[in-house]
Amino acid sequence: MPMLELEQVSTFYGNIQVLHEIDLQVDQGEIITLIGANGAGKSTTLMTISGIVPPVKGRIFFKNTPIHGLAPEKIVALGLSQVPEGRHIFPDLTVSENLDMGAFLRTDTRSVREDLDYIYSLFPILGNRRNQPGGNLSGGEQQMLAISRALMAKPQLLLLDEPSMGLAPLVTRQIFDIIKRVNQEHNTTIFLVEQNANLALKAADRGYVLENGRITMHGNAGELLRNNDIRKAYLGI
Ligand code: ATP
Repeated sequence: MPMLELEQVSTFYGNIQVLHEIDLQVDQGEIITLIGANGAGKSTTLMTISGIVPPVKGRIFFKNTPIHGLAPEKIVALGLSQVPEGRHIFPDLTVSENLDMGAFLRTDTRSVREDLDYIYSLFPILGNRRNQPGGNLSGGEQQMLAISRALMAKPQLLLLDEPSMGLAPLVTRQIFDIIKRVNQEHNTTIFLVEQNANLALKAADRGYVLENGRITMHGNAGELLRNNDIRKAYLGI
């Protein structure tokens, strides 16, 4: 069953059309990546899905429920969370307070506590630093916290915007390993936006290519990795 479907979605900033008739589908349990150059419209696609920049035309369904036009917090409540580009953690709140913020819509206190334990097992460094302000963490740790905060909402679908941005290769690898674990162990479907196409396609099941606001190619991630046009345009080969 498709978990997320975009049908002919067009998004504008004022008069400027940034997304042109996007068709896209994410199935339950998949890791999907959307790759593309700077300014192609990747972040806008995520913000359109999560309701921050609603589409002007087209339809978006999450678990068969129309979500185009819904307020972002209603979309989160349905089980779809976004980790924005640049992380946006609360720097003055402690690590554990940041994680509490992620769970604020939930009333199932006992499983919130279990999920917190799970998060600290995924990222032991966050457990060690639970009482420190988020702003004191390194860039990689802040990315871990941003992902963890989104996971505390117990999403069925997690949208990730450029998780590798500004991070050292070793930290990036660690974060990608965790993304794959969350997908497998927690049964969380992942929609990943990345400029690092090589990394993203290696982690994903399927991929979509966005150019100037249009989907120009999609398919099995392994096939996209071997595709000559993609290798030239995005992998620098
Ligand atoms: P990047 O990797 O640089 O984040 P992207 O693929 O995520 O790129 P978007 O950030 O979605 O691309 O931007 C798509 C286009 O929309 C760009 O031309 C950008 O300049 C423009 N744009 C983004 N945000 C706004 C805004 N708030 N108002 C007007 N134009 C915007």
